Amino acid sequence: DVRVRFCPSPTGTPHVGMVRTALFNWAEARHTHGTFVFRIEDTDHERDSEESYNQIIDALKWLHLDWDEGVEVGGPNGPYRQSERNDIYKDVAGKLVAAGYAYESYSTPEEIEARNVAAGRPKAFGYDGYDRNLTDEQVAQFKAEGRKPALRVRMPDEDIAFDDLVRGHIEFKAGSVPDFIIVRPNGDPLYTLTNPVDDALMGINVVLRGEDLLSSTPRQVVLYRYLIELGIAKEMPVFGHMPYVMGKGKKKLSKRDPESNLFLHRENGFIYEGLLNYLALLGWSIAPDRDVFSMEEMIEKFDIRDVKANPAHFDIDKAIAINAEHIRMLDQQDFLNRSVPYLHRDGVVSADSWDALTDRERTVLTEAAPLVQPRVRLLGEVAGMVGSLLGDEEYIEPEDDARKTLKESAAEVLDKAIEALDGVSEVDWVTDSLHETLNTALVEQGGYKPRLAFGPVRVAMSGRRVSPPLFESMEIVGKPLTLARLKGLRE
Ligand code: GLU
Repeated sequence: DVRVRFCPSPTGTPHVGMVRTALFNWAEARHTHGTFVFRIEDTDHERDSEESYNQIIDALKWLHLDWDEGVEVGGPNGPYRQSERNDIYKDVAGKLVAAGYAYESYSTPEEIEARNVAAGRPKAFGYDGYDRNLTDEQVAQFKAEGRKPALRVRMPDEDIAFDDLVRGHIEFKAGSVPDFIIVRPNGDPLYTLTNPVDDALMGINVVLRGEDLLSSTPRQVVLYRYLIELGIAKEMPVFGHMPYVMGKGKKKLSKRDPESNLFLHRENGFIYEGLLNYLALLGWSIAPDRDVFSMEEMIEKFDIRDVKANPAHFDIDKAIAINAEHIRMLDQQDFLNRSVPYLHRDGVVSADSWDALTDRERTVLTEAAPLVQPRVRLLGEVAGMVGSLLGDEEYIEPEDDARKTLKESAAEVLDKAIEALDGVSEVDWVTDSLHETLNTALVEQGGYKPRLAFGPVRVAMSGRRVSPPLFESMEIVGKPLTLARLKGLRE
Protein backbone atom coordinates (compact mmCIF):
# COMPACT_ATOMS: atom_id res chain seq x y z
CA ASP A 1 0.00 0.00 0.00
CA VAL A 2 1.68 3.15 -1.22
CA ARG A 3 1.47 6.07 1.21
CA VAL A 4 2.70 9.42 -0.06
CA ARG A 5 2.43 12.87 1.42
CA PHE A 6 2.38 16.52 0.56
CA CYS A 7 3.73 18.55 3.45
CA PRO A 8 4.26 22.22 2.62
CA SER A 9 5.34 24.88 5.06
CA PRO A 10 2.73 27.65 5.12
CA THR A 11 5.02 30.50 4.16
CA GLY A 12 4.05 32.70 1.27
CA THR A 13 1.61 32.20 -1.55
CA PRO A 14 1.36 28.85 -3.38
CA HIS A 15 3.85 28.54 -6.21
CA VAL A 16 4.27 26.39 -9.26
CA GLY A 17 6.98 24.16 -7.78
CA MET A 18 4.86 23.44 -4.72
CA VAL A 19 1.86 22.53 -6.83
CA ARG A 20 3.91 20.27 -9.09
CA THR A 21 5.02 18.40 -5.94
CA ALA A 22 1.42 18.05 -4.80
CA LEU A 23 0.33 16.89 -8.26
CA PHE A 24 2.98 14.19 -8.61
CA ASN A 25 2.31 12.84 -5.12
CA TRP A 26 -1.42 12.82 -5.81
CA ALA A 27 -0.95 11.11 -9.18
CA GLU A 28 1.30 8.46 -7.62
CA ALA A 29 -1.29 7.79 -4.92
CA ARG A 30 -4.18 7.61 -7.37
CA HIS A 31 -2.26 5.48 -9.88
CA THR A 32 -1.32 2.94 -7.22
CA HIS A 33 -4.65 3.15 -5.36
CA GLY A 34 -2.57 4.26 -2.41
CA THR A 35 -3.11 6.96 0.18
CA PHE A 36 -2.39 10.67 -0.21
CA VAL A 37 -1.63 12.35 3.11
CA PHE A 38 -1.68 16.14 3.44
CA ARG A 39 0.25 17.49 6.41
CA ILE A 40 1.22 21.06 7.27
CA GLU A 41 4.78 21.72 8.46
CA ASP A 42 4.24 24.82 10.52
CA THR A 43 7.11 24.73 12.98
CA ASP A 44 8.61 28.06 11.98
CA HIS A 45 6.59 30.57 13.99
CA GLU A 46 8.43 33.51 12.48
CA ARG A 47 7.56 32.71 8.87
CA ASP A 48 4.39 30.63 8.99
CA SER A 49 1.06 32.35 8.53
CA GLU A 50 -2.59 31.39 8.68
CA GLU A 51 -3.12 33.30 5.45
CA SER A 52 -0.64 31.06 3.67
CA TYR A 53 -2.27 27.97 5.18
CA ASN A 54 -5.66 29.06 3.85
CA GLN A 55 -4.19 29.77 0.45
CA ILE A 56 -2.66 26.30 0.20
CA ILE A 57 -6.03 24.73 1.03
CA ASP A 58 -7.73 27.00 -1.50
CA ALA A 59 -5.13 26.00 -4.12
CA LEU A 60 -5.56 22.24 -3.66
CA LYS A 61 -9.34 22.56 -3.68
CA TRP A 62 -9.33 24.68 -6.81
CA LEU A 63 -7.04 22.19 -8.52
CA HIS A 64 -9.26 19.26 -7.42
CA LEU A 65 -6.25 17.53 -5.83
CA ASP A 66 -8.12 15.67 -3.11
CA TRP A 67 -6.43 14.02 -0.16
CA ASP A 68 -7.37 10.97 1.90
CA GLU A 69 -5.87 11.88 5.25
CA GLY A 70 -4.75 15.20 6.63
CA VAL A 71 -5.77 18.67 7.66
CA GLU A 72 -9.46 19.48 7.27
CA VAL A 73 -10.41 15.83 6.61
CA GLY A 74 -8.66 14.18 9.59
CA GLY A 75 -7.55 10.57 9.77
CA PRO A 76 -6.01 8.00 12.10
CA ASN A 77 -2.58 9.64 12.35
CA GLY A 78 -3.55 13.19 13.31
CA PRO A 79 -3.25 15.91 14.18
CA TYR A 80 -1.87 16.84 10.77
CA ARG A 81 -0.50 20.26 11.65
CA GLN A 82 2.94 20.04 13.16
CA SER A 83 2.24 22.98 15.45
CA GLU A 84 -0.20 20.67 17.26
CA ARG A 85 2.26 17.80 17.64
CA ASN A 86 4.86 19.26 19.99
CA ASP A 87 4.45 16.60 22.67
CA ILE A 88 5.19 13.91 20.11
CA TYR A 89 8.47 15.56 19.06
CA LYS A 90 9.54 16.10 22.69
CA ASP A 91 8.93 12.47 23.43
CA VAL A 92 10.89 11.23 20.41
CA ALA A 93 13.76 13.66 21.05
CA GLY A 94 14.01 12.34 24.61
CA LYS A 95 14.22 8.77 23.35
CA LEU A 96 16.93 9.68 20.83
CA VAL A 97 19.02 11.30 23.56
CA ALA A 98 18.48 8.40 25.98
CA ALA A 99 19.69 5.96 23.31
CA GLY A 100 22.75 8.08 22.51
CA TYR A 101 21.60 8.85 18.94
CA ALA A 102 21.31 12.52 19.81
CA TYR A 103 23.17 14.65 22.31
CA GLU A 104 23.15 18.06 23.94
CA SER A 105 25.24 20.62 22.11
CA TYR A 106 26.29 23.95 23.62
CA SER A 107 28.50 25.33 20.84
CA THR A 108 27.45 28.68 19.44
CA PRO A 109 27.87 29.41 15.71
CA GLU A 110 30.69 31.85 16.58
CA GLU A 111 32.55 29.21 18.57
CA ILE A 112 32.19 26.67 15.78
CA GLU A 113 33.54 29.12 13.23
CA ALA A 114 36.44 30.13 15.47
CA ARG A 115 37.43 26.50 15.99
CA ASN A 116 37.31 25.85 12.24
CA VAL A 117 39.54 28.84 11.55
CA ALA A 118 41.98 27.83 14.30
CA ALA A 119 42.20 24.30 12.89
CA GLY A 120 42.80 25.57 9.35
CA ARG A 121 39.42 24.34 8.09
CA PRO A 122 37.24 26.41 5.80
CA LYS A 123 34.96 28.80 7.70
CA ALA A 124 31.91 27.17 6.20
CA PHE A 125 33.04 23.68 7.16
CA GLY A 126 30.19 23.53 9.61
CA TYR A 127 29.85 21.92 12.98
CA ASP A 128 32.91 19.91 14.04
CA GLY A 129 31.50 17.39 16.50
CA TYR A 130 33.00 19.24 19.47
CA ASP A 131 30.14 18.54 21.90
CA ARG A 132 30.03 14.81 21.26
CA ASN A 133 32.28 14.05 24.19
CA LEU A 134 31.98 16.89 26.67
CA THR A 135 33.23 16.16 30.19
CA ASP A 136 30.92 16.56 33.16
CA GLU A 137 32.92 19.63 34.21
CA GLN A 138 32.43 21.29 30.82
CA VAL A 139 28.71 20.65 30.95
CA ALA A 140 28.50 22.01 34.50
CA GLN A 141 30.42 25.09 33.39
CA PHE A 142 28.07 25.75 30.42
CA LYS A 143 25.05 25.33 32.66
CA ALA A 144 26.55 27.72 35.21
CA GLU A 145 26.92 30.25 32.38
CA GLY A 146 23.18 29.89 31.80
CA ARG A 147 23.58 28.23 28.40
CA LYS A 148 20.81 26.07 27.04
CA PRO A 149 21.77 23.17 24.76
CA ALA A 150 20.49 22.39 21.30
CA LEU A 151 20.03 18.71 20.46
CA ARG A 152 22.11 17.25 17.64
CA VAL A 153 21.91 13.91 15.90
CA ARG A 154 25.12 11.90 15.78
CA MET A 155 26.08 11.06 12.19
CA PRO A 156 27.71 7.64 11.74
CA ASP A 157 31.23 7.51 10.35
CA GLU A 158 30.25 5.87 7.09
CA ASP A 159 29.01 6.67 3.60
CA ILE A 160 25.26 7.23 3.34
CA ALA A 161 23.67 5.81 0.21
CA PHE A 162 20.16 5.41 -1.12
CA ASP A 163 18.44 4.67 -4.41
CA ASP A 164 16.43 7.63 -5.62
CA LEU A 165 13.37 6.83 -7.73
CA VAL A 166 14.21 9.67 -10.10
CA ARG A 167 17.96 10.07 -9.87
CA GLY A 168 19.23 6.56 -9.24
CA HIS A 169 21.97 5.66 -6.79
CA ILE A 170 23.11 8.55 -4.60
CA GLU A 171 25.97 8.55 -2.12
CA PHE A 172 27.17 11.02 0.48
CA LYS A 173 30.72 10.42 1.70
CA ALA A 174 31.42 9.70 5.36
CA GLY A 175 32.20 12.93 7.20
CA SER A 176 30.57 15.18 4.59
CA VAL A 177 27.44 15.75 6.65
CA PRO A 178 27.97 17.23 10.13
CA ASP A 179 25.93 16.28 13.20
CA PHE A 180 22.76 18.35 12.82
CA ILE A 181 20.41 20.18 15.13
CA ILE A 182 16.94 18.71 15.69
CA VAL A 183 15.81 20.83 18.66
CA ARG A 184 16.70 24.47 19.22
CA PRO A 185 18.10 25.67 22.57
CA ASN A 186 14.67 27.19 23.29
CA GLY A 187 13.07 23.76 22.89
CA ASP A 188 11.53 24.29 19.43
CA PRO A 189 11.79 21.16 17.27
CA LEU A 190 13.16 21.71 13.78
CA TYR A 191 12.08 20.44 10.37
CA THR A 192 15.05 17.99 10.53
CA LEU A 193 13.23 16.17 13.33
CA THR A 194 9.56 16.75 12.66
CA ASN A 195 9.62 15.76 9.00
CA PRO A 196 11.07 12.23 9.37
CA VAL A 197 9.25 11.62 12.64
CA ASP A 198 5.91 12.40 11.06
CA ASP A 199 6.71 10.41 7.95
CA ALA A 200 7.46 7.49 10.28
CA LEU A 201 4.35 7.90 12.43
CA MET A 202 2.12 8.44 9.41
CA GLY A 203 3.46 5.33 7.70
CA ILE A 204 4.80 7.20 4.67
CA ASN A 205 6.73 4.80 2.47
CA VAL A 206 7.34 6.93 -0.64
CA VAL A 207 8.76 10.43 -0.24
CA LEU A 208 8.45 12.54 -3.38
CA ARG A 209 9.71 16.08 -3.20
CA GLY A 210 11.81 18.72 -4.90
CA GLU A 211 15.49 18.45 -5.71
CA ASP A 212 16.21 21.39 -3.38
CA LEU A 213 15.68 18.99 -0.45
CA LEU A 214 18.18 16.39 -1.68
CA SER A 215 20.96 17.70 0.57
CA SER A 216 18.80 17.03 3.65
CA THR A 217 18.13 13.43 2.68
CA PRO A 218 21.29 11.83 4.17
CA ARG A 219 20.36 13.37 7.53
CA GLN A 220 16.85 12.02 7.25
CA VAL A 221 18.10 8.58 6.26
CA VAL A 222 20.29 8.45 9.37
CA LEU A 223 17.57 9.70 11.68
CA TYR A 224 15.21 7.18 10.13
CA ARG A 225 17.62 4.36 10.92
CA TYR A 226 17.59 5.45 14.55
CA LEU A 227 13.81 5.63 14.55
CA ILE A 228 13.68 2.10 13.22
CA GLU A 229 16.10 0.96 15.94
CA LEU A 230 13.83 2.57 18.53
CA GLY A 231 10.75 0.90 17.05
CA ILE A 232 9.21 4.27 16.14
CA ALA A 233 9.49 3.72 12.38
CA LYS A 234 8.74 0.47 10.58
CA GLU A 235 10.79 0.76 7.39
CA MET A 236 12.91 3.25 5.49
CA PRO A 237 10.82 5.09 2.88
CA VAL A 238 12.04 5.29 -0.69
CA PHE A 239 12.85 8.76 -1.96
CA GLY A 240 12.28 10.47 -5.28
CA HIS A 241 13.56 13.98 -5.90
CA MET A 242 11.83 15.87 -8.69
CA PRO A 243 13.83 18.13 -10.99
CA TYR A 244 14.18 21.85 -10.58
CA VAL A 245 11.79 24.08 -12.47
CA MET A 246 13.70 26.65 -14.51
CA GLY A 247 12.42 30.03 -15.56
CA LYS A 248 13.68 32.28 -18.33
CA GLY A 249 17.41 32.51 -19.01
CA LYS A 250 18.53 29.25 -17.40
CA LYS A 251 17.70 30.49 -13.92
CA LYS A 252 15.71 28.53 -11.37
CA LEU A 253 12.14 29.75 -11.23
CA SER A 254 12.02 31.66 -7.98
CA LYS A 255 9.04 31.72 -5.66
CA ARG A 256 8.98 35.46 -6.20
CA ASP A 257 8.75 35.31 -10.01
CA PRO A 258 5.25 36.25 -11.13
CA GLU A 259 5.23 33.19 -13.39
CA SER A 260 5.57 31.11 -10.28
CA ASN A 261 2.47 32.53 -8.58
CA LEU A 262 -0.39 30.05 -8.79
CA PHE A 263 -3.14 32.55 -8.07
CA LEU A 264 -1.89 34.92 -10.72
CA HIS A 265 -2.39 32.15 -13.26
CA ARG A 266 -5.90 31.66 -11.92
CA GLU A 267 -6.63 35.40 -12.12
CA ASN A 268 -5.47 35.44 -15.71
CA GLY A 269 -7.95 32.72 -16.48
CA PHE A 270 -6.16 29.41 -16.45
CA ILE A 271 -8.67 26.66 -15.80
CA TYR A 272 -7.42 24.03 -13.41
CA GLU A 273 -7.44 21.28 -16.02
CA GLY A 274 -5.14 23.28 -18.26
CA LEU A 275 -2.75 24.31 -15.54
CA LEU A 276 -2.48 20.80 -14.09
CA ASN A 277 -1.87 19.39 -17.55
CA TYR A 278 0.97 21.83 -18.07
CA LEU A 279 2.48 21.27 -14.61
CA ALA A 280 2.45 17.53 -15.26
CA LEU A 281 4.85 18.14 -18.12
CA LEU A 282 7.45 19.62 -15.76
CA GLY A 283 9.52 16.46 -15.53
CA TRP A 284 7.08 13.92 -16.90
CA SER A 285 5.48 13.11 -20.23
CA ILE A 286 2.56 10.89 -21.09
CA ALA A 287 3.85 9.84 -24.51
CA PRO A 288 6.24 11.20 -27.12
CA ASP A 289 4.71 14.11 -29.05
CA ARG A 290 1.68 14.34 -26.83
CA ASP A 291 1.05 17.40 -24.70
CA VAL A 292 -2.67 17.53 -24.01
CA PHE A 293 -4.31 15.04 -21.69
CA SER A 294 -6.77 14.80 -18.82
CA MET A 295 -6.03 13.97 -15.20
CA GLU A 296 -7.77 10.61 -15.66
CA GLU A 297 -5.23 9.79 -18.35
CA MET A 298 -2.38 11.03 -16.16
CA ILE A 299 -3.50 8.82 -13.27
CA GLU A 300 -3.67 5.83 -15.56
CA LYS A 301 -0.13 6.31 -16.88
CA PHE A 302 1.79 8.05 -14.10
CA ASP A 303 4.83 6.36 -12.61
CA ILE A 304 7.32 8.37 -10.60
CA ARG A 305 10.12 6.28 -12.12
CA ASP A 306 9.38 7.87 -15.48
CA VAL A 307 10.13 11.36 -14.18
CA LYS A 308 13.32 12.78 -15.70
CA ALA A 309 16.09 14.11 -13.47
CA ASN A 310 17.14 16.97 -15.73
CA PRO A 311 15.72 20.42 -15.07
CA ALA A 312 12.28 21.24 -16.45
CA HIS A 313 11.58 24.56 -18.14
CA PHE A 314 8.54 26.62 -17.35
CA ASP A 315 7.24 27.97 -20.65
CA ILE A 316 4.24 30.25 -20.13
CA ASP A 317 3.34 30.35 -23.83
CA LYS A 318 3.10 26.61 -23.99
CA ALA A 319 1.09 26.59 -20.76
CA ILE A 320 -1.39 29.07 -22.28
CA ALA A 321 -1.67 27.06 -25.50
CA ILE A 322 -2.48 23.94 -23.51
CA ASN A 323 -5.02 25.88 -21.47
CA ALA A 324 -6.73 26.97 -24.69
CA GLU A 325 -7.15 23.31 -25.66
CA HIS A 326 -8.79 22.54 -22.34
CA ILE A 327 -11.11 25.54 -22.59
CA ARG A 328 -12.26 24.24 -25.97
CA MET A 329 -13.05 20.87 -24.41
CA LEU A 330 -15.41 22.29 -21.77
CA ASP A 331 -19.08 21.89 -22.46
CA GLN A 332 -20.63 25.21 -23.32
CA GLN A 333 -22.55 25.85 -20.12
CA ASP A 334 -19.52 24.92 -18.02
CA PHE A 335 -17.45 27.37 -20.06
CA LEU A 336 -20.03 30.09 -19.43
CA ASN A 337 -20.37 29.35 -15.73
CA ARG A 338 -16.64 29.58 -15.27
CA SER A 339 -16.36 32.75 -17.35
CA VAL A 340 -18.94 34.71 -15.40
CA PRO A 341 -16.74 35.57 -12.38
CA TYR A 342 -14.12 36.98 -14.76
CA LEU A 343 -16.76 38.95 -16.67
CA HIS A 344 -18.09 40.34 -13.42
CA ARG A 345 -14.61 41.24 -12.21
CA ASP A 346 -14.04 43.15 -15.43
CA GLY A 347 -17.33 44.99 -15.17
CA VAL A 348 -18.98 43.37 -18.19
CA VAL A 349 -21.89 41.64 -16.46
CA SER A 350 -23.98 42.45 -13.41
CA ALA A 351 -23.28 39.45 -11.17
CA ASP A 352 -20.62 36.86 -10.48
CA SER A 353 -22.65 33.72 -11.06
CA TRP A 354 -24.65 32.53 -14.03
CA ASP A 355 -27.91 32.23 -12.13
CA ALA A 356 -27.71 35.79 -10.90
CA LEU A 357 -27.29 37.32 -14.38
CA THR A 358 -30.12 39.13 -16.17
CA ASP A 359 -32.08 37.29 -18.86
CA ARG A 360 -30.55 39.48 -21.52
CA GLU A 361 -27.01 38.74 -20.31
CA ARG A 362 -27.71 35.04 -20.34
CA THR A 363 -29.20 35.22 -23.84
CA VAL A 364 -26.33 37.20 -25.31
CA LEU A 365 -23.69 35.02 -23.63
CA THR A 366 -25.37 31.85 -24.85
CA GLU A 367 -25.41 33.20 -28.40
CA ALA A 368 -21.83 34.39 -28.11
CA ALA A 369 -20.40 31.23 -26.55
CA PRO A 370 -19.84 29.27 -29.79
CA LEU A 371 -18.02 32.28 -31.22
CA VAL A 372 -15.88 32.96 -28.18
CA GLN A 373 -15.04 29.60 -26.67
CA PRO A 374 -12.84 28.45 -29.58
CA ARG A 375 -11.01 31.79 -29.66
CA VAL A 376 -9.90 32.43 -26.07
CA ARG A 377 -6.84 30.93 -24.44
CA LEU A 378 -7.56 32.23 -20.94
CA LEU A 379 -10.90 33.00 -19.29
CA GLY A 380 -9.60 36.51 -18.67
CA GLU A 381 -9.89 37.09 -22.43
CA VAL A 382 -13.62 36.45 -22.57
CA ALA A 383 -14.56 39.91 -21.37
CA GLY A 384 -12.75 41.59 -24.26
CA MET A 385 -14.57 39.33 -26.70
CA VAL A 386 -18.10 39.67 -25.39
CA GLY A 387 -17.96 43.15 -23.89
CA SER A 388 -19.09 44.77 -27.13
CA LEU A 389 -21.90 42.24 -27.53
CA LEU A 390 -23.29 42.82 -24.06
CA GLY A 391 -22.87 46.55 -23.91
CA ASP A 392 -25.42 48.99 -25.35
CA GLU A 393 -22.98 51.79 -26.19
CA GLU A 394 -23.80 53.53 -29.45
CA TYR A 395 -20.17 54.39 -29.97
CA ILE A 396 -17.16 52.30 -29.00
CA GLU A 397 -13.88 54.11 -28.68
CA PRO A 398 -11.38 52.02 -30.72
CA GLU A 399 -8.34 50.64 -28.95
CA ASP A 400 -5.07 52.12 -30.24
CA ASP A 401 -3.98 49.15 -32.32
CA ALA A 402 -7.46 48.93 -33.82
CA ARG A 403 -7.48 52.61 -34.74
CA LYS A 404 -4.16 52.15 -36.52
CA THR A 405 -5.75 49.66 -38.91
CA LEU A 406 -8.17 52.29 -40.20
CA LYS A 407 -7.12 53.46 -43.66
CA GLU A 408 -8.21 56.57 -45.56
CA SER A 409 -10.94 54.57 -47.22
CA ALA A 410 -12.57 53.82 -43.86
CA ALA A 411 -15.06 56.67 -44.01
CA GLU A 412 -16.28 55.71 -47.44
CA VAL A 413 -16.48 52.03 -46.46
CA LEU A 414 -18.57 52.90 -43.44
CA ASP A 415 -20.92 55.07 -45.51
CA LYS A 416 -21.49 52.26 -47.99
CA ALA A 417 -21.96 49.74 -45.20
CA ILE A 418 -24.51 51.93 -43.41
CA GLU A 419 -26.46 52.44 -46.60
CA ALA A 420 -26.51 48.75 -47.44
CA LEU A 421 -27.40 47.59 -43.94
CA ASP A 422 -30.16 50.15 -43.62
CA GLY A 423 -31.94 48.24 -46.35
CA VAL A 424 -31.84 44.91 -44.50
CA SER A 425 -35.12 44.21 -42.73
CA GLU A 426 -35.23 43.08 -39.10
CA VAL A 427 -36.30 39.55 -40.16
CA ASP A 428 -33.36 39.25 -42.52
CA TRP A 429 -30.97 40.49 -39.83
CA VAL A 430 -29.14 37.16 -39.58
CA THR A 431 -25.54 36.17 -40.07
CA ASP A 432 -25.72 34.82 -43.63
CA SER A 433 -27.68 37.64 -45.19
CA LEU A 434 -25.61 40.27 -43.36
CA HIS A 435 -22.50 38.67 -44.80
CA GLU A 436 -23.99 38.59 -48.27
CA THR A 437 -25.22 42.18 -48.09
CA LEU A 438 -21.88 43.63 -47.03
CA ASN A 439 -19.94 41.45 -49.41
CA THR A 440 -22.05 42.62 -52.33
CA ALA A 441 -21.93 46.28 -51.38
CA LEU A 442 -18.28 46.55 -50.41
CA VAL A 443 -16.32 43.85 -52.21
CA GLU A 444 -18.25 43.12 -55.38
CA GLN A 445 -19.65 46.57 -56.10
CA GLY A 446 -17.31 48.72 -54.00
CA GLY A 447 -14.19 46.98 -55.21
CA TYR A 448 -12.49 46.84 -51.81
CA LYS A 449 -10.31 43.93 -50.74
CA PRO A 450 -12.11 42.02 -47.94
CA ARG A 451 -9.67 43.22 -45.28
CA LEU A 452 -10.20 46.88 -46.18
CA ALA A 453 -13.92 46.32 -46.49
CA PHE A 454 -14.63 44.59 -43.19
CA GLY A 455 -11.84 46.03 -41.02
CA PRO A 456 -13.56 49.37 -40.29
CA VAL A 457 -16.88 47.61 -39.64
CA ARG A 458 -15.18 45.31 -37.14
CA VAL A 459 -13.55 48.25 -35.36
CA ALA A 460 -16.90 50.08 -35.21
CA MET A 461 -18.63 47.03 -33.74
CA SER A 462 -16.08 46.04 -31.11
CA GLY A 463 -13.40 48.72 -30.85
CA ARG A 464 -10.92 45.91 -31.28
CA ARG A 465 -8.73 44.54 -34.01
CA VAL A 466 -9.47 40.99 -32.95
CA SER A 467 -13.07 40.24 -32.10
CA PRO A 468 -15.60 37.47 -32.31
CA PRO A 469 -16.77 36.80 -35.85
CA LEU A 470 -18.22 39.97 -37.31
CA PHE A 471 -21.52 38.94 -38.87
CA GLU A 472 -22.49 36.76 -35.93
CA SER A 473 -21.74 39.73 -33.68
CA MET A 474 -23.94 42.00 -35.76
CA GLU A 475 -26.78 39.55 -35.50
CA ILE A 476 -26.41 39.31 -31.71
CA VAL A 477 -26.17 43.08 -31.27
CA GLY A 478 -29.16 43.75 -33.57
CA LYS A 479 -29.91 46.30 -36.26
CA PRO A 480 -30.39 49.57 -34.36
CA LEU A 481 -27.22 49.25 -32.30
CA THR A 482 -25.17 48.03 -35.26
CA LEU A 483 -26.15 51.06 -37.34
CA ALA A 484 -25.55 53.37 -34.39
CA ARG A 485 -22.04 52.02 -33.94
CA LEU A 486 -21.15 52.32 -37.61
CA LYS A 487 -22.40 55.92 -37.62
CA GLY A 488 -20.59 56.53 -34.35
CA LEU A 489 -17.24 55.63 -35.84
CA ARG A 490 -18.04 57.45 -39.06
CA GLU A 491 -18.37 60.72 -37.18
N1 GLU B 1 7.97 21.33 4.57
C1 GLU B 1 8.92 21.03 3.56
C2 GLU B 1 8.93 22.16 2.54
O1 GLU B 1 7.94 22.85 2.39
C3 GLU B 1 8.60 19.74 2.85
C4 GLU B 1 9.77 18.86 2.82
C5 GLU B 1 9.50 17.49 2.27
O2 GLU B 1 8.70 17.34 1.33
O3 GLU B 1 10.10 16.55 2.80
O4 GLU B 1 9.92 22.39 1.89
